[in-house]
Amino acid sequence: MADPAECTIKVMCRFRPLNSSEVTRGDKYVAKFQGEDSIVIAGKPYVFDRVFQSNTTQEQVYTACAQQIVKDVLGGYNGTIFAYGQTSSGKTHTMEVSYYEIYLDKIRDLLDVSKTNLSVHEDKNRVPYVKGCTERFVCSPEEVMDTIDEGKSNRHVAVTNMNEHSSRSHSIFLINVKQENTQTEQKLSGKLFLVDLAGSEKVSKTGAEGAVLDEAKNINKSLSSLGNVISALAEGSTYVPYRDSKMTRILQDSLGGNCRTTIVICCSPSSYNESETKSTLISVTLSV
Ligand code: ADP
Ligand code: MG
Repeated sequence: MADPAECTIKVMCRFRPLNSSEVTRGDKYVAKFQGEDSIVIAGKPYVFDRVFQSNTTQEQVYTACAQQIVKDVLGGYNGTIFAYGQTSSGKTHTMEVSYYEIYLDKIRDLLDVSKTNLSVHEDKNRVPYVKGCTERFVCSPEEVMDTIDEGKSNRHVAVTNMNEHSSRSHSIFLINVKQENTQTEQKLSGKLFLVDLAGSEKVSKTGAEGAVLDEAKNINKSLSSLGNVISALAEGSTYVPYRDSKMTRILQDSLGGNCRTTIVICCSPSSYNESETKSTLISVTLSV
């Protein structure tokens, strides 16, 4: 088991391969990898706990990003894994899960589509939770995957343009692990949040109006409140602004303290997306 006092926020960065439209357009592959922890773009190095080249397998990413957190959650710690990056950079691919989602700061239950605006409450220990959210009791990996599939299909049913919509909402999958030793009656519980964030790209201010502008403002606001919480935790500040957004409130007891947190930054390696990739890398480097 990892030492609870060790640094608990890890930042990793994954570059997907060039996709077919990038290849067709003749985009260049602009990411240069240096060792296992640094990436150079336009001559500037960015250093993380780990970087993954485009040929990295899902299993290698899991081993480096998630395996230890999953072990620690089984040992009674809480943890969160985020996927952050512009739309089409590989966030959902990296998570493989896609349940409830937060869209325009409204929480929608993906295991019961009749629940469209759930609220955040606190339990007797002042731990925030989503009131009335569907909970499933699962005993096997197959049941976890079935639950994920059900959430995914509900996400499809409710929206006409899946890709458009998923890039504008955060999806959160919570695995609550409760164990009891029948001999000692000792109880152990741990939580793991898997967070597939909304696309981090800047929505151009010109042209965006009405609902689209509301969405853009909301995404920027919730991503910046998350950034503020992560910065406060990384600096060890005594005040952490968890209450600034629904997402940070929900994650409150699974971020900071001795919780395990991994941020996987997902990037396109194409010259076409170079400026967006640089701003993604810089925004996370500034936060942590
Ligand atoms: P996002 O969730 O960030 O918008 P997706 O995960 O949906 O992006 O990825 C966009 C497309 O690129 C998908 O078709 C996905 O299968 C593909 N893709 C993403 N990452 C990789 C990767 N590392 N290797 C191969 N294909 C990938
Ligand atoms: Mg996605």
